[in-house]
Amino acid sequence: MSSKRSAEAVVIGGGAVGTAVACYLAMDGVDVTVVERGEFAWGTSRRCEGHVVTYDTPPGDFSLFCKTGQDLFYEAQDFLPVDFEFTPEGIGLLVDNEDHLEIVKQNFEGKKAEGYDVTLWDRDELRHRERNIGDNVIACLNFNNDCTLNPMRLCFGLAKHAEENGATILPRTQVTKLLTENGRVSGVETDQGIIATKNVILSSGVWTPSLGAMLGVQIPIRPRQGHILVTERVSGLLSKAYVEYGYLLTKHGVTRENVTPDMDKFGVAFVIEPSSAGTVLVGSSRRFAGMDIRPHPAVMRAVAERGTHFFPSLSDMRLLRCYAGVRPASPDELPIISSTHIPGLFVGAGHEGLGISLCLITGKIMSELVRGETPFIDASYMSIDRFGFNPPAVPAGETTL
Ligand SMILES: Cc1cc2nc3c(=O)[nH]c(=O)nc-3n(C[C@H](O)[C@H](O)[C@H](O)COP(=O)(O)OP(=O)(O)OC[C@H]3O[C@@H](n4cnc5c(N)ncnc54)[C@H](O)[C@@H]3O)c2cc1C
Repeated sequence: MSSKRSAEAVVIGGGAVGTAVACYLAMDGVDVTVVERGEFAWGTSRRCEGHVVTYDTPPGDFSLFCKTGQDLFYEAQDFLPVDFEFTPEGIGLLVDNEDHLEIVKQNFEGKKAEGYDVTLWDRDELRHRERNIGDNVIACLNFNNDCTLNPMRLCFGLAKHAEENGATILPRTQVTKLLTENGRVSGVETDQGIIATKNVILSSGVWTPSLGAMLGVQIPIRPRQGHILVTERVSGLLSKAYVEYGYLLTKHGVTRENVTPDMDKFGVAFVIEPSSAGTVLVGSSRRFAGMDIRPHPAVMRAVAERGTHFFPSLSDMRLLRCYAGVRPASPDELPIISSTHIPGLFVGAGHEGLGISLCLITGKIMSELVRGETPFIDASYMSIDRFGFNPPAVPAGETTL
């Protein structure tokens, strides 16, 4: 990039969220440039699993938000130019404890009332469907519209579709400075030159706070580490993806009984996902450990041990590899989808363990915010204002291109 460029909007970050934001902006006719310092899916979006979920929210506004976000994937499979291994087989929430079963039953009724396609399997039905399930598991709440996908292929598909709709895609380009004129955004400086723009969207995952700080905007996002084990190829182990109920507890930092001290310390809760390649992804853990993405043997051991509690035959399988990533976590675990007090500066980040699930709805809402429209679904409770760290954000409608 030698000469000075310009764009109506610049998105910083080529992960699931940034590529989705760029994609919706481009589809809505905005001249958008997306800048990624590495390749697409260079950050957390290549170090995760690909569950697109509604299972991990109690009934209420955010639950409906997740459901609406999930519906967008059913649309996207028809228009994205890359096969992102979309697998709409449903995901099961496994229960291994009578106390949890009572909560899950209430959740079942609440989700049904919200119009979710959910079914509850008792112990016998579960064993009939999954012959390798562990003896400890007593029920399964199935979210039949939950699905899985390949996050890296999703990012490539979103970036490609954005480009096909007129977006400029700049990988291997690092933003080094955010520029302002008369108090509003006027451009970004990169290691490849300046891009003049009146709108910048920070979709930079765990790196978003340092970008916001360039203009004095405090963005409270912390990296929350998670591990995934990848097994050799297997067939017939399981029919779809599962997660244990305890996963919802570790997400909110709740101490659990009936797990080992290491599982509790590392926030280990069982998640399993068969991949299109025939391997199986087994997770996961949750802890604040800075930007550390090195796999740790003690955490790996605890994840594997928890896995065999739910699928004992996992203990016969060989491990191919392990990776760790860092979830961008806000203090209340909700994403930040918001304008800021700096006119022209927007934030779409902080999705914690839901950045794949919610990337499309974030992209759609962000395009509306940037174009000065009222979002198609209420996202006001995801405003950066809720933290009270910054002067009030410029309201939607006053943020026109
Ligand atoms: C173990 C694990 C399992 C998970 N499983 C799931 C799951 O099943 N379902 C789900 O919904 N979510 C899951 N998540 C969460 C999900 O991975 C994240 O929420 C999501 O990937 C965040 O996407 P992002 O685009 O915000 O950030 P990222 O993917 O990190 O993208 C940010 C990008 O910004 C770029 N960048 C940063 N600074 C600059 C700069 N100065 N200039 C240019 N580019 C820059 C980075 O290189 C990076 O590519 C999981 C996470 C982990 C760790």
